Amino acid sequence: MANKLDGKVALVTGASSGIGEATAIALATEGAKVAVSARRSDRLESLVKRIADSGGQALPIVADVADEKQAQDMVSKTQAEFGRVDILVNNAGVMLLGTIDGANTEDWRRMVNTNILGLLYATHAALTIMKSQGEGHIVNISSVAGRVAQAGAGVYNATKWGVCGLSEALRQEVHSEKIRVTIIEPGAVATELTHHITDSQAKERISKWIEGIKPLESEDIANAIVYAVTQPAHVNVNEILIRPTDQ
Ligand code: NDP
Repeated sequence: MANKLDGKVALVTGASSGIGEATAIALATEGAKVAVSARRSDRLESLVKRIADSGGQALPIVADVADEKQAQDMVSKTQAEFGRVDILVNNAGVMLLGTIDGANTEDWRRMVNTNILGLLYATHAALTIMKSQGEGHIVNISSVAGRVAQAGAGVYNATKWGVCGLSEALRQEVHSEKIRVTIIEPGAVATELTHHITDSQAKERISKWIEGIKPLESEDIANAIVYAVTQPAHVNVNEILIRPTDQ
C-alpha cells in the first residue's frame, strides 16, 4: 500500500534530538524524503543511518538557523538534493528560562535569534520554492508557552507568542498560493530542552516539576505533525495544542 507522503520532501530543523528527531522518523516512515538539520553533525549522521536502515531516505544538513545565510543554504540544499520542498517543520528552538529582572541578556538573544528569526529565515527561503511548486506546508512549533504566560518564562513566552502571531498572519498571506501553515503547541515533552537552561534555579524548578508529572513523548508530537501534513490539500489544520494529561 502507498504511504501517505510518498513523493513528498520534508525539511525538519532541530532534528538532532527530541521532537525534531521523532518527527523526521515519522515523516520518513510515511514515505517522505527528509532533510534533517541542526548544528550537531554526529547526531544527524546517526539519524540518517536509522532512517536508511528502515528503508527511508534522509539528508543531513548542518546549519545554525539563527544565521540567515546558513538557513537559506539549508533550504537550497534540500531542493538541490531532493528536487522540491513540500513540508518545512520549523522546530529548532531553545528555552532558556529565567526571570527578566537579573537575566543574562545573551539568553534573550539566543531565544529570539533561534525561535523567531531562525524560523523566519527558513520560512522566507522555503516560500519562494513552495510558490513555484504551487503548494507547500509550513509547520511551526510554538508551545503552550505561546498561549499561557508564566513568571520566569517571559522571553520564551514572547518568542512562542510571536510564533503564533506570525504564523496566523503568514497563513492569511499565502493560502491563496495553496501554501498551508500549521502551529503546533506542545505542553511538557521529555526532551533535552531543559538541559540548556543557564539559570540554575529556573533549571531546577522546571526539572523538579517535570519529574512530578508524566510528560509527553516526542513521538506524541510527531504524530500530531503527521496528522496535520497528511490531510487533503483543501484542509489546513491551523493549530494543535497538546498537553500531557497531568499538566
Ligand atoms: P531539544 O533540545 O531536544 O531539541 C532542540 C533542537 O533544536 C535540537 O535539535 C537542536 O540541535 C536544535 N537547535 C537549537 N538551536 C539551534 C540553532 N541555532 N540552529 C539549528 N538548530 C538548533 O528540545 P525539543 O525537542 O523539546 O524542542 C523542539 C521544539 O519544541 C523547540 O522549538 C521547543 O521550544 C519546542 N517545545 C518543546 C517543549 C518541551 O517540553 N520539550 C514544549 C513546547 C515546545 P543542535 O543543538 O544540534 O543545533
